[in-house]
Amino acid sequence: MGNVWEKFRPAYIFSAVWEIEPAFLREKGIEAIILDLDNTLLAKGAQNFPPQVLKWLRQIEEAGLRVCLVSNSGRRRVEGAAFSLGVPCVFRAAKPGRRPFIRALQILGTEPRQTAVIGDQLLTDVYGGKRLGMVTILVKPLPGKEFVGTRINRRLEKFIWRRLNRLEEG
Ligand SMILES: [Mg+2]
Repeated sequence: MGNVWEKFRPAYIFSAVWEIEPAFLREKGIEAIILDLDNTLLAKGAQNFPPQVLKWLRQIEEAGLRVCLVSNSGRRRVEGAAFSLGVPCVFRAAKPGRRPFIRALQILGTEPRQTAVIGDQLLTDVYGGKRLGMVTILVKPLPGKEFVGTRINRRLEKFIWRRLNRLEEG
């Protein structure tokens, strides 16, 4: 019987998206990735992507992996980011709801088990991805000020991590 907190445990953890090598994803049978935007690719309030993010995305696409942005942010910010990256997007996604992830899977044309969700939040990216049976990868948030809602989620994340670590200790 699974513990309720396990719903929030990411399959993998990386310090930043650019640490995730395309070959690593390929080995896991991943064909496509669903990417969070804020604090994963773009610091809150920032207009430009860090150069490491742009370089990493080129490597991802060269490896033949498909990409879709899924963000809870509004249309302008998400579409602007997606346009500059040349990738499709789902905006105002209401993660961890199932619908935006199902929409992204339709866009990508992949099954959940072939798809990785990469993001910085347990409550939206990881929990939402796991609901659909996708491979979840947590990254550390990029430095920068965060939305009020995100700051509240961070407190909940600390609480969840204490539970998850306790489960690991047995
Ligand atoms: Mg985020």
